[in-house]
Amino acid sequence: MILIQDATINNKVQDILIEKNKIKKIGKNLIQKENLNKKDLKIIDGKNKIIIPGLVNTHTHTPMTLFRGVADDLPLMDWLNNYIWKMEANLNEEIVYNATMLGCMEMIKSGTTTFNDMYFYMNGIIRGVQETGIRAYLGYGMIDLFDEEKRENELKETVNTVENIQKLNNPKINPTVSPHAPYTCSMELLQESHNLAKKYNVPLHIHLNETIDEIKTVEEMTNKRPFEYLDSFGFFNGVKVISAHNVHLSDKEIEIIKNKNIAISHNPISNLKLASGIAPIPKLMENTVLITLGTDGCGSNNNLNLFEEIKMASLIHKGNSLNPTVVSASQSFEFATKNGAKALGLNAGELVEGALADVVIIDINKPYLIPNENIYSHLVYSFNGVVDMVIIDGEIVLNDGKMVNINEEKVYENAEKSYNKLLNNSDE
Ligand SMILES: [Zn+2]
Repeated sequence: MILIQDATINNKVQDILIEKNKIKKIGKNLIQKENLNKKDLKIIDGKNKIIIPGLVNTHTHTPMTLFRGVADDLPLMDWLNNYIWKMEANLNEEIVYNATMLGCMEMIKSGTTTFNDMYFYMNGIIRGVQETGIRAYLGYGMIDLFDEEKRENELKETVNTVENIQKLNNPKINPTVSPHAPYTCSMELLQESHNLAKKYNVPLHIHLNETIDEIKTVEEMTNKRPFEYLDSFGFFNGVKVISAHNVHLSDKEIEIIKNKNIAISHNPISNLKLASGIAPIPKLMENTVLITLGTDGCGSNNNLNLFEEIKMASLIHKGNSLNPTVVSASQSFEFATKNGAKALGLNAGELVEGALADVVIIDINKPYLIPNENIYSHLVYSFNGVVDMVIIDGEIVLNDGKMVNINEEKVYENAEKSYNKLLNNSDE
């Protein structure tokens, strides 16, 4: 058991007791109160430390860490067609593994304990996730470009991924079904995705309404806006859906989101960088829609630090609506914790007894966290995301800012090597 004593937890100085993978008890003087034997405990001094629930990144493409800084300041379609998809053609499992190691480490070091990912070379991703000890929801990103043969292969890959992950029987790794988007996937693929998500009882993860152009494409193809089109064949019925971006939404689409079990993954920084626009989050909140936060991949962010997303989510809607009261610090923080966990059906995101022990410990003796009376405000508006200890599923994976089971230098070295391989290949 792990006992952290005298830390700031839920606004009070108290202890937290972790047994196996759960938070067993939160309260003052737990050694006496719970009659604990010190021999059974790993005791951690929590003085001058704040404990928060681990952050949940609900939309990313972790292996894209190697695309960081490769093609900045370009429009989405130019960015995708002329850079990202070209480099992605040179990926292989080893490169994806090295990129995943880097990405998972980056997330852990900035307080993220769970991420929801859509990509390919799934075995490379799974290896990286297992070695770093992070919790993940992983989907093979399907794109058939309306080609029947491609479609069959993509669906096969998804079935393999879901079954392989379920066979691992690792409670930290969960599968999803992840069709890329309605402008890259045929109706048949989207329908079959829905069927698979239902069959395996896993979430659907998809990109929707990221840009105006893409919505136009879907409208020309189907005579409907993307959410209406998907709703017309029951895509949202009876499944959990994580919808990334949702930048441009009609009132009718907001109505669909509200009425179906659709969680929004808001990716404000990626949407700004690619000049896609600003999602109508205050309006969605008025409609009691579940809002969560995602970083998207490193090609369009350019990091996986969810604390930046929390701050941006709180600021951008104030500026956009000329109203400083929208998206408060606590709401934005909840997007990244409680709401993210809820969207994925995960018993985490809050420091409560019985929840999974996914917790982050931050030393508050840092210049930007002083005076620390309003520490919860600092975490949203002033913190840079560098955390000191991370516990995932009851296991310490980061201690004193260092990865416990990972040779960090090796990860950096392998990432650089893989990056050079990607570039050399793309010159051929
Ligand atoms: Zn994305």
